[in-house]
Amino acid sequence: MPPVFRFAPSPNGHLHLGHAYSALLNFDRARETGGRLLLRIEDIDMARCRPEYETAIYEDLAWLGIAWETPVRRQSEHLADYRAALEKLSALGLVYPAFESRAEIAKLVAAREGDGPWPRDPDGAPLYPGDANSLPAGERARLIASGVPYALRLDMAAACRQVSGLTWNEQGEGPDGERGLVAARPEAWGDVILARKETPTSYHLSVVVDDALQEVSDIVRGQDLFHATSVHRLLQALLGLTEPIYRHHGLIRGTDGRKLSKSNRSTGLRELRAAGMSPVGIRATVGLG
Ligand code: GLU
Repeated sequence: MPPVFRFAPSPNGHLHLGHAYSALLNFDRARETGGRLLLRIEDIDMARCRPEYETAIYEDLAWLGIAWETPVRRQSEHLADYRAALEKLSALGLVYPAFESRAEIAKLVAAREGDGPWPRDPDGAPLYPGDANSLPAGERARLIASGVPYALRLDMAAACRQVSGLTWNEQGEGPDGERGLVAARPEAWGDVILARKETPTSYHLSVVVDDALQEVSDIVRGQDLFHATSVHRLLQALLGLTEPIYRHHGLIRGTDGRKLSKSNRSTGLRELRAAGMSPVGIRATVGLG
């Protein structure tokens, strides 16, 4: 079976040099190995994703000389697949509704920090501080019936009791030089969100469901997602999904040393193209000469 690669941007802004690097690495690697390249549009964040950004993704990738298989998978068209996965996790007793608003969560964290530092996840966000998992069943039912919106969270401690000793095969490199067999540490993320209040899934859930359904064998993506792989491996194990190989790559940074953002116009592919840069120039700029 030829290896299957994917590039999975979110249409919430225009692509920049960092996306070009990731997309070109996937494309080159697929070509070198006789593999397939898929494109997946990760558009579950309905508030931030826009059709014009999706159109721009196709144009910019084609301009770079990248070819991908069609049809493209758009996550917003596959909510039933994510629902099915959620139901499976629910049946394992690992999912609970959490009703707090963002402001209430921030308040809870602040209150807990009165007793010392509250733990943060690998991205620097505070772990879920609430106690929704221990709400009495009657209270939970009352809140649901009264229409209070809720997110669905993973009971991380219970999940880690069901599967432990998880690892992944890292053929790229983590931010601290991790490579080879890496031990997953999903507990570092706390009770992650599986379905948001405003959308019936989450990044973690949809990415593992899609990678499995699309039979992706090799995941080439930025080191900013290295630690998220721990959560992905846990969900794969719980859902009985196959384990891909991971190849995390270094990030292209701005002149200020920071990660590029979609709002930084000086590194946007459209701006660079308008300024006269060629696809060959983009390759050279990201070190793929
Ligand atoms: N959609 C994610 C992003 O734009 C990438 C997902 C992945 O490669 O796992 O950063």
